[in-house]
Amino acid sequence: MRILYGPVDSWRFGRSLGVDPLAGRAKICPFSCTYCQYGPTPTPAVGRRSWVSVERLQRELEALGQVSADCVTFAGLGEPTAAANLRELVLAVRSSLALPLIILTGSGLIPRADVRRDLLLFDQVVAALDSPDEALFRQIRRPVSGYPYSWAAIVEGLRQFRRAYRGRLVLQMMYLQVNVHAAPQMAALARTLEPDEVQLNTPLQPALGGPITETQMRSVERAFAGMAPVRCVYVDGQTQTRPRFP
Ligand code: SF4
Repeated sequence: MRILYGPVDSWRFGRSLGVDPLAGRAKICPFSCTYCQYGPTPTPAVGRRSWVSVERLQRELEALGQVSADCVTFAGLGEPTAAANLRELVLAVRSSLALPLIILTGSGLIPRADVRRDLLLFDQVVAALDSPDEALFRQIRRPVSGYPYSWAAIVEGLRQFRRAYRGRLVLQMMYLQVNVHAAPQMAALARTLEPDEVQLNTPLQPALGGPITETQMRSVERAFAGMAPVRCVYVDGQTQTRPRFP
């Protein structure tokens, strides 16, 4: 599997060159979210390790030639912060391409200080947060066996990251029938995290009662009224989109 992919067009980021720092044939993640487009997680990642070498990424960058893209997005098949050499991979991309760097994270490893340090390198961090409490977190995100963190530790990790981070923090909130009632709690929680943007989304997959309707999304949006900028999939994407990938 290649590390670089695309560029692909995204309703959120424009034209984006993808970097998969895991470059695996199967998803590597600390979660097995009910809405994940890649199904169950075959390779659990409760810690970090280097999945691809920096030299391999440099070779792919050299072979890239001219690229027409608005940004570079670290995402791919799983949780990109599970790469222990994420910092080195970012520096390799920075030295080759003068484009803004974005990362999409499921937030599962953000309780770790080394992960938060690596996230500081990005111009924009899009972090998932779908639940207002531990019970819904376990129901929706389904942490893999041995996952060491609680919902509260993830929220605290996001809070600490926000305090240190000067870039653009985007919260991505996925709404399903099972958590749509919790929109007011989610909005209150989001306010305390002071994101630069909130993206409201609903998945393609029929998870936990299925995606929410446009009417339900409107009511979710109202719970976020007054918060700086809220982007809603039904307005900005015009249709449902994949959950995490550009
Ligand atoms: S949606 Fe993202 S965080 Fe959830 S299992 Fe899939 S890759 Fe992991």
